[in-house]
Order: sequence, then structure tokens, then C-alpha cells
Amino acid sequence: VEHEIDWRDEYIAARAAGVKPLPSKWRHTEIRKALETETAARCAYCDADITAVSFGDVEHFKPRNHFPELVVEWNNLTLACQTCNNEKSDKWDDALPYVNPYEDEISEHIVFVGGFIHAVSYRGVRTVTDIGLGSLEKTEARWNQVNAAMRLFNLWKMAPTSVRSLLEEQIQLFLADTPYIGAVEAALRGAGYPLTAAAA
Ligand SMILES: [Zn+2]
Repeated sequence: VEHEIDWRDEYIAARAAGVKPLPSKWRHTEIRKALETETAARCAYCDADITAVSFGDVEHFKPRNHFPELVVEWNNLTLACQTCNNEKSDKWDDALPYVNPYEDEISEHIVFVGGFIHAVSYRGVRTVTDIGLGSLEKTEARWNQVNAAMRLFNLWKMAPTSVRSLLEEQIQLFLADTPYIGAVEAALRGAGYPLTAAAA
């Protein structure tokens, strides 16, 4: 970010002076646009389509109240849907940092069974619990995508040879655009669909 140091210093100074509301340069259009491109407008925590679910917000992976020096640090910024943003709020556990989809191998921490989410590490437990990723709302949203993918899978499985490759194209298009990709891929893989490296 071009103005990173100025904006960081401005924030820290305002915070020290007790200014309210604090400057929020991380909401700058330039930052938000770049993050939308980087994240494909998906929530860093639940993988919801931010434009579809609600107007998402620029999110500080490490909360700005605890880490004011990272307030405009690019590697600390991502996008989150409003639900996750609200749930996570200022929570942070240094011993068990939240699973970061851009740095961590998610499957080491979180696995999906249909629309259900299961933590398989301490950091996974921290992430799922603190951010509410197992809520009814999020579970239902994942099931919707998983069920849609499984309908395509069933058509593909029964398909006559003449339309099989067309269904494979449909599945690729679905995978390229679907939210909750972790749950969708787990379901397809579990059902025996040969996921290619490009789709993974
Ligand atoms: Zn979310």
C-alpha cells in the first residue's frame, strides 16, 4: 500500500490522542478493490461470496485494537463477511492464531463433511468456535452448495458417454465460481469425482 506508513502513523497518533472515530484508511477504495481481486470477493473465514451475502468489510486478521501497528499492513488485511467480522470482533489468541487461508493448509485444521464443519487441530477449534463457522446459517449455506454440486455429480455419474465431457465442463464452471469450495471439493472427492489439480 502506497501510503502505508503515513496511514499507520496517523492511526497510532489518533489512537494515542483518544480521537474518535479513529481514521479508517483501510477502507480506502484502492485497498478494498485490491483485496476484492486478491480474495475473489470471498470471506477469508467462511468463504461466503461477500457481494452476495452482505456488504463485507475490510478485515484485520490481527485485530487493530491489539495490533495498531498493523492497521494498514497489507499482509494483515483481508475481506470478511459481516457475520464473521462481527463474530471475530477483537478476539485474538497469540497461542492459537486463526487459520489463514492464504498462509495455512486449511485441511490440517478444518475438515468438511457435507455442509458440516469439523475442527481437527487446536487452531481449528479456536477458529471455528470464535468465528461461529459451525452456525446453523453457515452450515445451511454450505449444504446448499454441496447439494448443487452433488446434483451435477449424479448427472455426471449416470451420463451416457456423449454428454459426459459436457457435465465435466459444468462441474469445472461450478467449481470456478462456487463459495464454500472446501466443503464442495470434499463432497465431490468423497463421492469419487476425479478432481483435477486445476480445480483443487
Ligand atoms: Zn464469513
